[in-house]
Amino acid sequence: MQLISIKNLNKYFLQPAKMQVLTDVSFDIEKGKFIAITGKSGSGKSTLLYLLSTMDRDFEGSIRINREEMHGKSNPWLADFRNHHIGFVFQFHYLLAEFTVLRNVMLPALKLRKYSPAETEHHAMELLKLLGVADQAYKRASLLSGGQQQRIAIARALINEPLIIMGDEPTGNLDSYNSAVVFDLFKKLSAEKGQTILMVTHDEDIAARSDQTIHLVDGKVDAITNR
Ligand code: ADP
Ligand code: MG
Repeated sequence: MQLISIKNLNKYFLQPAKMQVLTDVSFDIEKGKFIAITGKSGSGKSTLLYLLSTMDRDFEGSIRINREEMHGKSNPWLADFRNHHIGFVFQFHYLLAEFTVLRNVMLPALKLRKYSPAETEHHAMELLKLLGVADQAYKRASLLSGGQQQRIAIARALINEPLIIMGDEPTGNLDSYNSAVVFDLFKKLSAEKGQTILMVTHDEDIAARSDQTIHLVDGKVDAITNR
């Protein structure tokens, strides 16, 4: 099944001068695959991922996710869609420093209200265990190391069981040991839970181990490699 289908995506920035950042970008992504988006700095990777995340509504062309067209949808509709289906991990984790680790992981689920707070807490603890940081649950987030905080951010991205997990260089700020931990976890999720992973990365080892690489040059798809 094609989970994501992009057709003739064009994106312009108008400031400081009109500039086309993405040109006729088209590709399909199958459910459960691990996708790496690669390309030099400035090639449009972050812009593309931001569009796919549905946070930027200003584009030409079509973005279909899980059979829904994103073009023309209202902000509240998109916010609800994102909350249900998409989890994000960024290079910098943006945890709420004064909250406990456990609370940080629970927040997106408390907002969604699909499960009771007790069930959510149980689920959050399970994720912290999966990520090897359950012993940190009651500490303030700001007291953890960078690698630990990144794992908390991943747990938070997973709490609503999203169809798609997106990361913009999520390992860019980590040492090679923690990068490998994060990468292996993403691999495991796509293999075991059928979650689709979309990752912008500079890391050639990660790209080489993905199922599909989408390589951008100057805002155009230069090559799509399937493994
Ligand atoms: P990458 O993530 O591959 O490094 P980006 O998507 O961040 O590339 O940027 C692609 C191009 O778009 C760059 O030339 C960048 O300067 C430009 N750009 C990115 N964001 C904006 C913005 N908000 N306004 C104007 N230009 C932007
Ligand atoms: Mg970028």
